[in-house]
Amino acid sequence: MTPLYVPRVVAYVDHAAIRANLARVRAFAPRAKVMAAIKADAYGHGAVPIARTLVDAGVDALAVACFEEALTLREAHVQAPLVLLEGVLSPAEAELAASERLQVVVHSEWQLALLEGLPAGTPLSLWFKIDSGMHRLGFAPERASALHALVQAHPGWQLQGWMTHLACADDPEHPLTGQQIRCFEQATAGLPGARSIANSAGLIAWPQARADWVRPGLMLYGASPLPNKTGAELGLRPAMRLESRLIKIQDVEAGETIGYGGTYRCAERMRVGVVAVGYADGVHRVLPTGAPVLIRGTRVPIIGRVSMDMITVDLRTLPQAQIGDTVLLWGTGLPAEEVASWAGTLAYELFCGLTNRVHFVHR
Ligand SMILES: *Cc1c(COP(=O)(O)O)cnc(C)c1O
Repeated sequence: MTPLYVPRVVAYVDHAAIRANLARVRAFAPRAKVMAAIKADAYGHGAVPIARTLVDAGVDALAVACFEEALTLREAHVQAPLVLLEGVLSPAEAELAASERLQVVVHSEWQLALLEGLPAGTPLSLWFKIDSGMHRLGFAPERASALHALVQAHPGWQLQGWMTHLACADDPEHPLTGQQIRCFEQATAGLPGARSIANSAGLIAWPQARADWVRPGLMLYGASPLPNKTGAELGLRPAMRLESRLIKIQDVEAGETIGYGGTYRCAERMRVGVVAVGYADGVHRVLPTGAPVLIRGTRVPIIGRVSMDMITVDLRTLPQAQIGDTVLLWGTGLPAEEVASWAGTLAYELFCGLTNRVHFVHR
């Protein structure tokens, strides 16, 4: 028996893939600057190491969702321009945003009030978010010129530009996207400052949305943002490989059931494997019987329920399987997008759902 000489569940993160995916972003939008979304711990890949690689590869700015994420990067001495996508939430955050030289997205009147509460002349670097039709965050389009006037009225305030977010960019046919782009262009016409519209799906599927800055997230990690295209078809490389190990192999008699609830019944005597990974690691409990894992390059189905620390798999097509064999949950050969669709979700949620029980190896 092979000893289990590596940690039980390992996420290998391939930094060469991150670089290659950034190059794909630049190939799609050669004239745009790139603000890489590394919120949510770089979509579960590790914000600090990913930030260092992206900065080394020449990314123009990094975007995070909240203040804590920005501070983590500053504490790790990541000096790139950092954009706070949801802006500041309190007077203390407004102060620190200024002292840490964060670029602050402002999406609401109450945030303007927070910034106006800072001492006169405090240098601040601002993006204004316009609600062009998604109706989540952003100012009404007709407020744009008044916002510009407000910047001029505040010595120290510097306008980086204008951003909006697309609701349906992953559907290349959706009429809302064209409407949003037109709305945003009209709202900001004639005003100074850069324009930014597109996330990953937007920058791939909607050339008119590339504008001055693109804001890719998911595609940097190698997953396709478009339901009708695989990552490979888009020239993307999965940056993460999530692996565990086979820790038991046994033959189970016909008629017996496997796992909690006895939801899977063996139709014949069959070889069953137990893999040391479960929902407490980030393998979604809703993954049904039939969802694939990859062992020795062969897809085998999960059978029965995902438990907290284990899953069970059907090894009938893989008689050569051994205790200690590597089991790929997602990565090259088994795209996270595909596993996500078995769980009724998106690769975004799989990546962000990894827990601190997963051991990370950056290469
Ligand atoms: C997360 C985020 C992005 C990146 O989106 P992807 O779909 O991962 O490319 C872009 N813009 C904003 C405002 C975001 O919050």
